[in-house]
Amino acid sequence: MTRSEFLKTCGLLGISLPFQASLSACEKQSAVPRSDEKVIIIGAGAAGLSAAYLLNQQGIEFEILEASGVYGGRMKRTTDFADFPIPLGAEWLHVEKGVLAEIVNDNSTTIDIKTTFYDPDKDFGLLDGVQLSLQDIDFTEDQKFVNASWFDFFEQYIVPSVEDRIRYNTVVQAIDYSGDQVRVTTDGGELVATKIIVTAPLKMLQNKSISFSPALPAAKQAAIDETTVWDGCKAFIEFSEKFYPAFTVYETVPETAGQKLYYDAAYGQDSNQHVLGLFAVGVEAKRYNDLTAGERISFMLAELDQAYDGKASAAYLKHTFQNWNAEPFINGAYLTDYEDWRKVRTLGEPVGDKLFFAGAAYSDGTDWGSVHSSARAAKRAVEELVG
Ligand SMILES: Cc1cc2nc3c(=O)[nH]c(=O)nc-3n(C[C@H](O)[C@H](O)[C@H](O)COP(=O)(O)OP(=O)(O)OC[C@H]3O[C@@H](n4cnc5c(N)ncnc54)[C@H](O)[C@@H]3O)c2cc1C
Repeated sequence: MTRSEFLKTCGLLGISLPFQASLSACEKQSAVPRSDEKVIIIGAGAAGLSAAYLLNQQGIEFEILEASGVYGGRMKRTTDFADFPIPLGAEWLHVEKGVLAEIVNDNSTTIDIKTTFYDPDKDFGLLDGVQLSLQDIDFTEDQKFVNASWFDFFEQYIVPSVEDRIRYNTVVQAIDYSGDQVRVTTDGGELVATKIIVTAPLKMLQNKSISFSPALPAAKQAAIDETTVWDGCKAFIEFSEKFYPAFTVYETVPETAGQKLYYDAAYGQDSNQHVLGLFAVGVEAKRYNDLTAGERISFMLAELDQAYDGKASAAYLKHTFQNWNAEPFINGAYLTDYEDWRKVRTLGEPVGDKLFFAGAAYSDGTDWGSVHSSARAAKRAVEELVG
């Protein structure tokens, strides 16, 4: 059963999902100091930052170890390309906007971030020249941030209260949870904590960048080894004119192998620039990632010229490309949408009372592979940790 099938079945049967249940308990937490705990969080992406933020609200001591020199992980954004933020990873808000308040978890904070839905009367997708509705291409629920991004939301509301406890350029290599305390070996030495929250991407566990002592339970290790992380890339191309609709979609065969679409990246932005985005995962991303820079832009313009009568080459101004497989501590996009939800649930389960997991791949098995689900996984991990 795939994720969408599982969600559909739950909906049909009227089953309320665990994360939805936990949402209702999402009131402001009282800051009860718990000086007996020292938590180490591995990774400063959406999950690590969210977990840190919630621990901070509860007065629990923590430190984030981040392998790279920046926070944000797969929410990476650039402000150099256009006059609005360009999300090189996470872009759309896949669920209701209330999830932003849920992540902030503080009723006294007003969230001043704008988003926009697509317009079913005006916006459509093109597949081989055939017009498809937003419903056909499953874009009725998704929202674009307006002159903002997921990264901006975290930067504004989550990062300020945890930033001074991020230790950058610190690569976790080994976790020994055999004793009363957990020993974390990094490239800069050893650290000790009472509990650990692992948010390093699944690929980093699949390629054994982090070792565990004792070894992880067999079911957990099997879930790590048997699940698939899609390759991933994004491109943004600026043109002198807009010759494309909201979406230009492509069929991937089989559909479980990946996804690819070009889309109007400037949609809803306060901007006069014409920027087309390319989103590709799985086999579709591998095709672009494997090309040289020169081959890649020629390939992209050729396929757009084919769809739009040569208009792409004529209007091309500049582009930027993000290969997610080449990001040293990420190595891919995210767990495929077609994964068995039971394996995903196993990925998210804690090991004993010291080792907790949260992030794009480590969820309760109801939803995964997005920023909101990573933040919800962090909330679950913190609840498990607090006990
Ligand atoms: C191309 C693409 C498009 C996407 N589009 C969307 C979208 O439109 N909407 C959406 O909601 N989601 C989207 N996502 C998914 C979303 O970006 C992720 O689900 C989410 O950002 C993952 O957050 P995370 O904290 O689990 O992991 P990450 O963001 O990967 O953070 C993990 C962190 O761990 C660090 N790390 C790794 N190894 C170590 C180590 N050994 N020691 C210390 N630190 C380590 C990494 O440097 C990284 O900063 C997209 C992702 C991609 C790649």
